[in-house]
Amino acid sequence: MFNFYEFVYGINWLISQDCKKNNNSIVLLKESVLSCVKCRLAENRTNVVFGEGSLHAKLMFIGEGPGAEEDIQGRPFVGRAGKLLDKMILAMGLTRDAVYIANIVKCRPPDNRAPFRDEAELCKPYLIEQINMIKPELIICLGSIATNYLLNVNVSITKVRGSQQEFQGIPVIPTYHPAYLLRNPGKKGEAWDDLKKAMAFLHLL
Ligand code: SF4
Repeated sequence: MFNFYEFVYGINWLISQDCKKNNNSIVLLKESVLSCVKCRLAENRTNVVFGEGSLHAKLMFIGEGPGAEEDIQGRPFVGRAGKLLDKMILAMGLTRDAVYIANIVKCRPPDNRAPFRDEAELCKPYLIEQINMIKPELIICLGSIATNYLLNVNVSITKVRGSQQEFQGIPVIPTYHPAYLLRNPGKKGEAWDDLKKAMAFLHLL
């Protein structure tokens, strides 16, 4: 609906106000997450890995949780698997700055174990807030843990990869986790098929 502010200041001003509001909201959210001790993963973390990327991203990647390098740097997907994710993003015709990358849990599980469901449930509200602020057009879930915890299902990634799922009205395409692809390079072709589906959805093909 055409309103007073749009009439006086124009649509670009309105958009810039929305951007500032979004930016402020995510800064406030990040501040609260950085001091979170809601679950046992707070005990051994070096840094909280909040997530990063464009607040206007059309595409959001969601992994299961930080690893050792991510815990040290406080940034998502910066280890070997992260380097492969960077290549996957580039192959899609995008850059890391243009997407948003986050995890189900924001603190590193010890010994690189998968996050437990209770940890995921306690941390997931932060991720949902991020999703609500960024409003991506598409989410790619990396691996079965991220897929199962986000969608609240219990399926094998081999069964669900490449299919179109949905989270709160946002389409979700699960694919293999880059760490799995490093261990199983023969699966990269299937992952590329999944990424091509995402590219088609985003009109990148
Ligand atoms: S994993 Fe999430 S819920 Fe648990 S302490 Fe870290 S930020 Fe809080």
